[in-house]
Amino acid sequence: MKYIGAHVSISGGAEKAPQNAEKIGAKAFAMFTRNQRRWASKSLTDKTIAQFKENCKSTGYDPRHIIPHDGYLINLGHPEAEALEKSRIAFLDEMQRCEQLGLRYLNLHPGSHLNKIDPDHCLKRIAESINLALDQTAGITAVIENTAGQGTNMGHRFEHLARIIGNVQDKSRIGVCLDTCHIYSAGYDIKTAKAFEDTLQKFDNLVGISYLKAMHLNDSKKPFGSRVDRHESIGKGSLGLEPFKFIMNDPRFDHIPMVLETPDHSIWEEEIRLLYDLIE
Ligand SMILES: [Zn+2]
Ligand SMILES: [Zn+2]
Repeated sequence: MKYIGAHVSISGGAEKAPQNAEKIGAKAFAMFTRNQRRWASKSLTDKTIAQFKENCKSTGYDPRHIIPHDGYLINLGHPEAEALEKSRIAFLDEMQRCEQLGLRYLNLHPGSHLNKIDPDHCLKRIAESINLALDQTAGITAVIENTAGQGTNMGHRFEHLARIIGNVQDKSRIGVCLDTCHIYSAGYDIKTAKAFEDTLQKFDNLVGISYLKAMHLNDSKKPFGSRVDRHESIGKGSLGLEPFKFIMNDPRFDHIPMVLETPDHSIWEEEIRLLYDLIE
């Protein structure tokens, strides 16, 4: 069984997310739990928390199929102490929000070295940031997203993901979210059946398929290996439909939330249907 959805809006409150997902025929969804472009955020009220849980129940979404995403300002590998601390505080706040909402996962972008520390040092910082947050929360798994490798972003090589996981103490609460646009932009081919399988084998050998907890389904505006992160609607970019056909027909992607972050929100319902129609 495949759980396809999209990253839905929380304008008007986090409690609106399940209904927004239901409206587009999603079986899974992603969401922010606070304003993703600001440092400060009001705490979730008891009312919002209760309403969110109630809405998940009435719409039939299980926390296993909800993959909240952390804010864009957080850099868990920041080279400077003060900025690192700010990121760690914000990340812990996000983990706690997920805990309050009864969720299971928090999807995070690993971090950037900003050319001020060496990449390996940055990866260790990221793992330490995750350890600190896991220590202070319960029941939430941190899900690292692979990146396109734009600028000084870490996480575009499977080796980076493996290195972070290797330094996380509680292996039961760490996972990976693979983004199809980022994989391809980072230089992992998935366009033919053979290339797709080779890339998945590489991931399994270096990281381990058991760590795969979620997928971001995006086509890419940019060519293979561009290291540029520009999402495109499914089938309309450099990836085309083939890779999504492989995913939809592969049992290794059963049971996990797989969400669109494609640019045209008005066709999400159509894109979800298109993906389900790829099942042979
Ligand atoms: Zn993504
Ligand atoms: Zn992206």
